[in-house]
Amino acid sequence: MKKTRIWLVITGLTIALISAVYLKAPLVEQEEFISEIEVDSSFFQLPTLHYGYPIDSFEIVEGKVKWNQNLSEILTAFNISYKDLHILSQRSKEVYDVRKLKAGSNYSIIHDRDSLKTARQFIFEPSPTEYVVYNLADSIFVDVQQKPVKVKERMLAAEINSSLYEAILDQGASPLLVGKMVDVFAWQVDFFRIAEGDKFKLIFEEETVDGEIVGIKSIKGAYFEHWGKPYYAIPFQTEEKLDFFDEEGKSLRKTLLKSPLEYFSRISSRYSLRRFHPVQKRYKAHLGTDYAAPTGTPIRTVGDGVVLEARYHGGNGNYVKIKHNSNYTTQYLHMSKIARGIRPGTTVKQGQTIGYVGSTGLANGPHVCFRFWKNGRQVDALKVDIPSSSGIEDTQLAEFKVYSDSVKNILDKIEYQHQETLLAKIPSDSEDDPNP
Ligand SMILES: [Zn+2]
Repeated sequence: MKKTRIWLVITGLTIALISAVYLKAPLVEQEEFISEIEVDSSFFQLPTLHYGYPIDSFEIVEGKVKWNQNLSEILTAFNISYKDLHILSQRSKEVYDVRKLKAGSNYSIIHDRDSLKTARQFIFEPSPTEYVVYNLADSIFVDVQQKPVKVKERMLAAEINSSLYEAILDQGASPLLVGKMVDVFAWQVDFFRIAEGDKFKLIFEEETVDGEIVGIKSIKGAYFEHWGKPYYAIPFQTEEKLDFFDEEGKSLRKTLLKSPLEYFSRISSRYSLRRFHPVQKRYKAHLGTDYAAPTGTPIRTVGDGVVLEARYHGGNGNYVKIKHNSNYTTQYLHMSKIARGIRPGTTVKQGQTIGYVGSTGLANGPHVCFRFWKNGRQVDALKVDIPSSSGIEDTQLAEFKVYSDSVKNILDKIEYQHQETLLAKIPSDSEDDPNP
């Protein structure tokens, strides 16, 4: 009696284990599953899955949607009636409209092995992260599925020989990283003037689907050496937002001053796409903000930068144009005089005097016309959203320092690799490695 009970328990456990293993299979990737638990393949056979569909007794056709190709054109070769196609079209409307198959997208068809090749499923991939299953066997339905996105932490370090873009691609990383880097170091690095020997290091989280990079989840730390100067970027969640700071907790973003004059009587003309020009006596766009002030009032640069132009030219009169970073450029017109030493290539500090109010060029009274470019387009300086530049608050500084030191420590240990090495060596924690 007792023996039978034990036997029952063992049998029960075995069944439970097998069914748990078997049922779990479609939920995880097969390769992963096999490597995690050693399965005796002679014991039972797992079905081969294609998008979760067991396909051992079917065939698969894969292709790319051609220009202007629709689903009926693709499926009529696979024994699908117009009636079924119509039902599919009706049912897909709310889920993923079959009439909107994007040209160039991957698809696959699972069909019977016989000569009719009756389609069981049509699977369409509108993006690298999702796929749409159009089920045709038994019941007709449409279902959008997300592919499992894997997130992997990576590190890389490279010297820039031609461009940042090339350097990142040479490391086997995604060009998506370029934009992320430009964002982080916009105020520290002039990405239009990368110097020979500029180098960078990155710790980041890469998102892949089926081994293909589909996104960058986050930058966990970055380092950039620009014209011989080192810059660190440490991401940190403050009470307000997640932002990047240098190793001391200062913001990497610099703000711009609100106006080019410390004191001014009034804004005499705002930015507008249509205004009556007081000198030319006609309507035209005014792509600047005019600040009225007495002749000789010092004009200051609203931010750190490099002088692009400083000269006299037509309606502008004496003017200075300054590039602040890859995103922002400002210009100051009608100066009575350009300040001493201000010429193209001069580096200027925020608040530095670059000239003096006047009425040279097309101006009917002393004022400075202040113009602002964001990403190459002229914008209203009074409306542009300038990032804040506050550093870590004292209350969070201790916590930040501990975190910052740990990130900096990892960054410092990443070694620069030759281009043929795809991944930078991940630093080991042990200092006394017998085989360094
Ligand atoms: Zn103006």
